[in-house]
Amino acid sequence: MSVTPAEARIDLDAVRDNVAALRGRAAPAALMAVVKADGYGHGMVPAARAALAGGAHQLGVAHIAEALALRAAGLRAPVLAWLTTPGDRYADAVAADVELSAGAGWALDEIAHAARTTGRAAAVHLKADTGLSRGGATPAEWPDLVAAAAKYEADGVVQVVGVWSHLARADEPGHPSIARQLAAFGAALDQAAAAGLRPRLRHLANSPATLTLPAARYDMVRPGLACYGLTPVPQLGPPATFGLRPAMTLLGRLAGVKRVPAGAGVSYGHTYVTDRETTLALVPLGYGDGVPRAASSRAEVLLAGRRRRIAGRVCMDQFVVDLGDDAASPGDEALLFGPGDAGEPTAQDWARLLDTISYEIVTRVGARVPRTYTGTGV
Ligand SMILES: *Cc1c(COP(=O)(O)O)cnc(C)c1O
Repeated sequence: MSVTPAEARIDLDAVRDNVAALRGRAAPAALMAVVKADGYGHGMVPAARAALAGGAHQLGVAHIAEALALRAAGLRAPVLAWLTTPGDRYADAVAADVELSAGAGWALDEIAHAARTTGRAAAVHLKADTGLSRGGATPAEWPDLVAAAAKYEADGVVQVVGVWSHLARADEPGHPSIARQLAAFGAALDQAAAAGLRPRLRHLANSPATLTLPAARYDMVRPGLACYGLTPVPQLGPPATFGLRPAMTLLGRLAGVKRVPAGAGVSYGHTYVTDRETTLALVPLGYGDGVPRAASSRAEVLLAGRRRRIAGRVCMDQFVVDLGDDAASPGDEALLFGPGDAGEPTAQDWARLLDTISYEIVTRVGARVPRTYTGTGV
């Protein structure tokens, strides 16, 4: 069996159990597990299978290509793709029974055209912009969008199965924008009903809303991050507060260990200089693998029994750790982050140190890092 320099170990039981916990919390609302961006770095297809094993009713992705990759892997569960551009693979999506979002007239027209050429009705989720000012129809555009959708539905070209929106500040429970968005969503739903639409799936809640805002659950919740065991509201406690367990452990196996004298400049720019004779360990992960260069001399890894700060610059493929007089051998595992069981940092620890969010830490783990899977989630 060959051993790789680095590895992202994914605990599929954790994904399955996280989804089951979220589903229990959101019930009787259904759950769409969001597996975009390669399942937030965890591997889209295995993550999707584990989520379905945990009781997810449906899958959600950004791009049509992601939805088609799920279909190509043999997954038959309902899938929604919500981020499309003119000329996109709408016909392939309709033919593969992929549900599509339309937040503008042009998108609805593209979907209707694809449905006509494919010879089957397209399942559409109409997207309202309730205050995020990202995708979706503004309140001014919404009446025309629902009227156009009602007409296409009457023609048998599309079926409006959902009406949905997205929250801007759900990770700040109690923020006044949340109540404003709920009210705007209610108004959008009323207008859709007045236009004769009867969507069976009204959905608004991302992970933070699923965890903290029962009023946002409607017919279905749409968590991503929480499925992977990370919390979007770290100010409310660690993932276990919500019955969640981080699924990804990122590790590198030491590619070298050596003694160097005092005064040795370490890594590019010599931003770290040894203050005495010491042992340096070389970890084969770098910004080419998604380890942020901003982690230079900041983030910590678990190595040789305790946490140690990265010594100097993170390079494209590697970084150095100063072990002092502690011992380690080539091949030993350095844990960058994981659930924290062994004392390793968490993705949230990395996020806090780097002034970002745990979403970015796990999602940016690069394609060069092999994902290995444990557990029986599939
Ligand atoms: C990514 C995404 C989600 C999932 O968000 P999380 O905060 O990870 O739960 C839900 N809906 C939309 C539209 C998204 O883009």
